[in-house]
Amino acid sequence: LNAIFLYYLYSLVLLAGPQDLSPADTLLVAGHVLTMDESWTVHSPGAVAVKDGVVAAVGPEAVVRGRFAARATIEARDAVLLPGLVNAHTHAPMTLFRGFADGLPLEAWLTTKIFPAESCGVTEESVRCGTRVALAEMARTGTTTFCDMYYFEDVVAEETIRAGLRGVLGSTVIGFPVPDAPDVAAALARAERFLEAHATSPLVVPAVAPHSTYTLDVETLKRCRALADRFGAPLLIHLSETKAEVEDVRTRFGRTPIAHAESIGLFSGGRTVAAHCVHPTAEEIAILARRGVGVGHCPESNMKLGSGVAPVPALLRAGVAVGLGTDGAASNDDLDLFEEIDTAAKLQKVAALDPTALDARAAVAMATIGGARALGLGERIGSIEEGKAADLVLLGGSGRAGLVPMGDPYSFVAYVAKGSDVKLTMVAGRVVYRDGETTTVDVAAAARDAVRWRERIEAAMSSSGGAEARIDVTWTGGFAPHVESRLVASSRGFVVRLTRGGPSGDVWEKFGADGAAIRALAEKLRTSGFEALGGKLSRPKDMVVMDAPSESWRLLIGSTTAGLEVEPGGQLGAGYPAWLRETRDALSKLAMGTPAERGEGDPPADLGVDLAGSR
Ligand SMILES: [Zn+2]
Repeated sequence: LNAIFLYYLYSLVLLAGPQDLSPADTLLVAGHVLTMDESWTVHSPGAVAVKDGVVAAVGPEAVVRGRFAARATIEARDAVLLPGLVNAHTHAPMTLFRGFADGLPLEAWLTTKIFPAESCGVTEESVRCGTRVALAEMARTGTTTFCDMYYFEDVVAEETIRAGLRGVLGSTVIGFPVPDAPDVAAALARAERFLEAHATSPLVVPAVAPHSTYTLDVETLKRCRALADRFGAPLLIHLSETKAEVEDVRTRFGRTPIAHAESIGLFSGGRTVAAHCVHPTAEEIAILARRGVGVGHCPESNMKLGSGVAPVPALLRAGVAVGLGTDGAASNDDLDLFEEIDTAAKLQKVAALDPTALDARAAVAMATIGGARALGLGERIGSIEEGKAADLVLLGGSGRAGLVPMGDPYSFVAYVAKGSDVKLTMVAGRVVYRDGETTTVDVAAAARDAVRWRERIEAAMSSSGGAEARIDVTWTGGFAPHVESRLVASSRGFVVRLTRGGPSGDVWEKFGADGAAIRALAEKLRTSGFEALGGKLSRPKDMVVMDAPSESWRLLIGSTTAGLEVEPGGQLGAGYPAWLRETRDALSKLAMGTPAERGEGDPPADLGVDLAGSR
């Protein structure tokens, strides 16, 4: 009886006229619909009905057409429809640093290029500008969800919502002063406000983003975990990116990064998304699998910085959810995930000398459902299934040269098509890009602003860089390996960055107009300063920047990315930690005190600056 009843219903559906069709907002028809569901269903040709931002139906074209009457129909029979791509690790505002630093390993890349550039250029407004450029690029190249970590993440969130993209956005916590927070306490407070503000946001999943195990102490990492769990928020972190990091963390904590994180309970709680994981041990892979840690694999960034080849097949075999990330534009240098799919597959093949190491379908899966699972959003996005968000990408079509004949649709997505071949990008049923037009971002204005910001940053950089000679210093502090001790000087002033771990660091100096003064200070730091300050300057947060513009002295204490500006003899505001005050005082004496205070001799004759002056 049941069967007969069902047959009767089925007949009704078949016989139904247009007046009986369900209403839908949009009907998308494509030559192939790659659903990326559990059974790898492909409909050729296929269709998707979208209603109220959600997939109302997906199936063979005839079936979906037979059920829905849509207000708008988008047809592309020579195109592939796939789930919107998920960028599992990026730093969106770093588009401002695109094409900025090549041929450097992570450590030097950060210290000689990125940190100084960020110290000149990261403000709320530059973050807004860089984010807009990134959002436009992501919409244009088919990324609908991105996982981000940067400073002023509230601004990133604001722009993301405005552009209509989806983001898992992490407010950064790092062990030294940065552009949006003078210390860890401020960074945690900022993260907490961020989690509160976006607790119910439909497009933004707010997260806590402790930078890494090598820039944060155990206590702070634990506080980040607790904060994330209090809000049920994901925790984002860089883990095991380079061999140098692995060695540094092992030296300092007795364990490799992932094992260290596990030992302090970082994975005991809600979701963790770990970027890179290039050098995990077998035991660490098992930890990631057991704890359900999602991994953001960034093949192009790892290749460009010479970091290594992540063991993706082993991670997947162990059951780890692996997504694909571009990393920031400064180490890629674009946000095109289609390139990442292509590279991810080929990198594993060449590393293993085995063409079956990672196939096209598996690589496409990482950029879609794999990324969604890695971010903890596998139930909402990442595949085209009824009830999931209508985050969709239409790829190819229009008979463009280089795209025909199509062949296997997974190979087409992985190896043939580029981000520039995206025809349409939809997030939650809303078109954010179509046929050359980004509909939610004023690309021309954003690009103009970005060029202006870049010019400002480069101008600021060129007035404070350069290294012509080096002197050795003995330094016993244990610093993050990614930063080097150096004295960079120019006619405008000098910058001291005390950081590199190991028995000796480097001090560089440039002999400009203030050469004698700089030499004198370098010598002073070499003979007494480093030693005198050694007890206090032993952690990354203690990085010191000193700057001496020609009109007056200025002392910056803090990280190279921001620092706290302190006028000589001026007061540090209440709330600054004691170590900062002590460091400031000690350095003030060394660099700017009276000859007696400095210990010996007269100030160099050509110092030529007003030591008492204020800025
Ligand atoms: Zn990163």
